[in-house]
Amino acid sequence: MMFKLKRPSSWTKKKTTRLVVLDPQNPTFSQPTVEKHFQDAWKHPKKRKPKVHAIFEIILTEEMLVPYLRYRALVEISRVPRHANEQLLFHGTNRNCLLGDGKKRTRLCNTSRCLLCAVIRNSFDVAKCGKRHRFRRFGSGIYTTACSSKADDYYAGVRNSPFRAMLVNRVVVGNPLVRQHNAEDLTGLPNGYHSVVGVPGADLNYGETVVYSNDAIRPAYLIIYAADPPTEVHVDLRLMISALFKTPINSSLPATDSSLSATVKPVH
Ligand SMILES: [Zn+2]
Repeated sequence: MMFKLKRPSSWTKKKTTRLVVLDPQNPTFSQPTVEKHFQDAWKHPKKRKPKVHAIFEIILTEEMLVPYLRYRALVEISRVPRHANEQLLFHGTNRNCLLGDGKKRTRLCNTSRCLLCAVIRNSFDVAKCGKRHRFRRFGSGIYTTACSSKADDYYAGVRNSPFRAMLVNRVVVGNPLVRQHNAEDLTGLPNGYHSVVGVPGADLNYGETVVYSNDAIRPAYLIIYAADPPTEVHVDLRLMISALFKTPINSSLPATDSSLSATVKPVH
């Protein structure tokens, strides 16, 4: 997995933007790897794999990066063998602007309701996380998942965009406390653990990973992808047409097989 924390050469401190678009033609910019990670993690059989529109690397400021690296190093030395168990995990949230819709739309908005821009600007905050959802399966923590199609369920966007957005994050998982059952009162972890990993089986269909320290996570990439095309509309149309041709009112219409199939053809 790619954990490079080097800044792309195109980025300079003078730039106000925090996003650098990854170039699919340039393999050093890891676009194909991130896209594959996102597509491979799309597990819901009933949700069609989305088409990726753009992937941006999120540039962290020194102030954001240093506490994370410090935390990661502490977890690393506390484990035998030394390994922070850092993972790239997904998080869906709400986007109240059009950030990322175009490759030049990289300016973060200032709307307080836009959690996406807030996270890119200041990373995650346990105190604010989960406020959108009353139910917190593993208590007050920062929730991520290895399943991109699950993170997609938590996205909420603006109406005038054909795209959806998802964050890919570096998460220091360390020693996970593995749970099959909900534990809504959880606020911290027993000694020696660094995260909770909820595994499918009892209360979950798809896994999730929760950390309880702000420094255990940083946003790494922003994926902008096309919303699933509304296939139901076409299905409904087909049912409607077939119903229409069976009713006496429409019996005078040229309800031949060929005319029906011609009307119904554009299903996908
Ligand atoms: Zn925004």
